[in-house]
Amino acid sequence: MIEDKNPKRTPLSELGEFKLIEHLTEHFEITQKSTVKGIGDDAAVLNFDKKQIVVTTDLLVEGVHFDLSYMPLKHLGYKSIMVNLSDVYAMNAKATQVTVSLAVSNRFPLEALEELYAGITTAAKHYNIDVVGGDTTSSNSGLIISVTAIGEVKKEDAVLRSGAQPNDLVVVSGDLGGAYMGLQVLEREKEVFKVNPNSQPDLTMYSYIIERQLKPEARKDIIELLEKLQVKPTSMIDISDGLSSEVIHLCKQSKVGVDIYENKIPLDPQVITTCEEFNIDSTTIALNGGEDYELLMTISQNDYEKIKGNPNLTVIGYITEAERGMHLVTRAEEKIPIIAKGWNALKD
Ligand SMILES: [Mg+2]
Repeated sequence: MIEDKNPKRTPLSELGEFKLIEHLTEHFEITQKSTVKGIGDDAAVLNFDKKQIVVTTDLLVEGVHFDLSYMPLKHLGYKSIMVNLSDVYAMNAKATQVTVSLAVSNRFPLEALEELYAGITTAAKHYNIDVVGGDTTSSNSGLIISVTAIGEVKKEDAVLRSGAQPNDLVVVSGDLGGAYMGLQVLEREKEVFKVNPNSQPDLTMYSYIIERQLKPEARKDIIELLEKLQVKPTSMIDISDGLSSEVIHLCKQSKVGVDIYENKIPLDPQVITTCEEFNIDSTTIALNGGEDYELLMTISQNDYEKIKGNPNLTVIGYITEAERGMHLVTRAEEKIPIIAKGWNALKD
């Protein structure tokens, strides 16, 4: 589907590891005050003064987490940073640095890695983070990307998964299910392409959900919005595996129950129409489809007036005592238990 329009293919062996790293990382600029020394020594040196530091890491494996037949390398580079920053923001922290490590097979020429790094560079610029280290090595098959993200947060501002209290409101940013439905469209087009390589699919009607899959954005803006509104969530988590499994994580760690209202779950119209086309229930997709990288949080009822009517934040339910359990209240006002499936299980 995505043709390599760049005919130049420089084998990685032509550069060797050190030249390769130098070549790929020479454009990174240092903008964070906390970065004392970035790439170029045995280790990066960071100084956070009195702030607390959050560290998170994610591994992306070709064939497991991404498929290069429809995932452009530039997008993959961008997304590999986003999935990590999303975890930093889920702590109510500010992301400051990342390290990027690659294992790459010899089927990738230098130009492919340049594309990947172009995406990483764009992400670093947009999100104002420094790339301060990493490693590059060879792999016998495929591409593996490991990103570690570092962030800072004032001690009193850090938000854990464990702070939700009965009667707190359950709030979600953005809308859900788009990334999973985008993936369904891309998988379908891949099958069509296999049969007829000359097919030129018109994907405009799916543009939003495909972008949600290929170019997700971590919700830095939500962390800034919460600060502006002077709302500190009582608990928070990012939605990488689907609403239901993230709700369960919050409730288990906070030792509370929850009622989520089906009719409050925010869905984009494109998710609804695509679900109809694929004959899938849109609530199931919001609950179990993954990779939306929205933030799920609980806030005190006292803060309701501050977030009321904000188009970025939707109240979808409230926290209950643990004994009441975790439930979805359907449109028919039936209560059904929330169980974790996650997007991997859904794929089968
Ligand atoms: Mg997470």
